[in-house]
Amino acid sequence: MRVLVVEDEKKTASFIRRALQGEGFTVEVVNRGDDGLMLASTEAYDAIVLDIMLPGRDGLSVLRQLRERKKKTPILLLSARGELNERVDGLNAGADDYLAKPFALAELIARVRALTRRGDENKSMSLRVADLSLDILKREAQRGVTRLDLTTREFRLLEYLMRTHGRICGRMAILENVWEYDFDPGTNIVDVYIRRLREKIDDNHEPKLLHTVRGAGYVLKDQP
Ligand code: CA
Repeated sequence: MRVLVVEDEKKTASFIRRALQGEGFTVEVVNRGDDGLMLASTEAYDAIVLDIMLPGRDGLSVLRQLRERKKKTPILLLSARGELNERVDGLNAGADDYLAKPFALAELIARVRALTRRGDENKSMSLRVADLSLDILKREAQRGVTRLDLTTREFRLLEYLMRTHGRICGRMAILENVWEYDFDPGTNIVDVYIRRLREKIDDNHEPKLLHTVRGAGYVLKDQP
């Protein structure tokens, strides 16, 4: 299950990210409304957690644009104290639910779970790119008929690359989504893990799936 979080308060955003990741969701975070609209329009998410007050473009405008574009992704609006009118406007504009800040972690998780259940329950629990497959529930990875022995971190890295397959992932995006860092630790940890993962999924197999895009990052894809 893939969730987009659009929230400009860094602390709240990382709190939400950790909570949802702890429940097994794959989480992408952006801090600006216009970035959120762009991603939500072009990528497939199982749910979107959308703050109302945002730089770039406010949450209600993002919501209206998405619904105008016939995007039906379930949306949970986050409203600050005193934003009752916005909350009502949001529900009228097609938000599926709302949560007032400050909220309890358990409440947020329950709401997001409820939203994602409204979609296809199992749709993203198994992933496939070419003959590489991932079973999220069983934590199993396989290339062709070969079972891959991955560490937890390697599995999460592979899951992230498979969910974003065909798209170039920069080191910073990988650090944020796989390591939950919101800063660059100044190490080559990503490159090290990519090398290890590549050995496991691509050595002895054709076609090669994990590609380096010089100066940009990495991409998992079945076309050279
Ligand atoms: Ca805000």
